[in-house]
Amino acid sequence: MNVHAPTKNYVFDPLPIPTLPVVGSSDLFPVHRIYCVGRNFAEHAIEMGHDPNREPPFFFQKNPDTLVLSGQDFPYPAQTSDVHHEIELVVALSKGGVDIAVEDALDHVYGYAVGLDMTRRDLQGVAKKMGRPWETGKAFEASAPCSAIVPVSQVGHPTDGAVWVKVNGEMRQTGDLNQMIWKVPEMISYLSGLFTLQPGDLIYAGTPSGVGAVVRGDKIHGKIEGVGEISTLVV
Ligand code: MN
Repeated sequence: MNVHAPTKNYVFDPLPIPTLPVVGSSDLFPVHRIYCVGRNFAEHAIEMGHDPNREPPFFFQKNPDTLVLSGQDFPYPAQTSDVHHEIELVVALSKGGVDIAVEDALDHVYGYAVGLDMTRRDLQGVAKKMGRPWETGKAFEASAPCSAIVPVSQVGHPTDGAVWVKVNGEMRQTGDLNQMIWKVPEMISYLSGLFTLQPGDLIYAGTPSGVGAVVRGDKIHGKIEGVGEISTLVV
């Protein structure tokens, strides 16, 4: 459970809480955890060599301090030569819970954003082959670029809309939110049966097909229709 000291001094100053800006507000969204869903678009599952049939969703996590705000640089990470972009809808929760019913799940959503699940594909591949955890492939520094959050009060709950990402102006990934195998309410409900969801949790909802490598100097620019845009320079 929570290990925060009540009113005592810390032995050193704690790092600041990771936050995201909110569209149309000067208030910040404080981030608790980052959950990511794997293989949530059929064509991406196929391109990664998997059966696109509707298996239960699976999740991994990134650390909240791996967030990078859209517009900031993405530092090319160490010990890889195959870093991939995965553009994803990001679901931002303002209410937590366990065993949340599908029909109640959207009440927990504060808003949506556009994220990049940056991946050291070579290290992820080794982990898969060896049956090891994915952290080295997925949870490295700056691996979670994200746009500002647009509140539900402005955007509603988008269920369709074009998703694309370009690298140096060349189209790489295209899809539509309506191609998601597991829909947002189902993801929240399923996750809440495995973890105690909390206000501030983010869910990266999976990527369409067309993932590919970037190199230093590449400009990544993505958009989810009706939600927002994201851009970052690989340095
Ligand atoms: Mn992903």
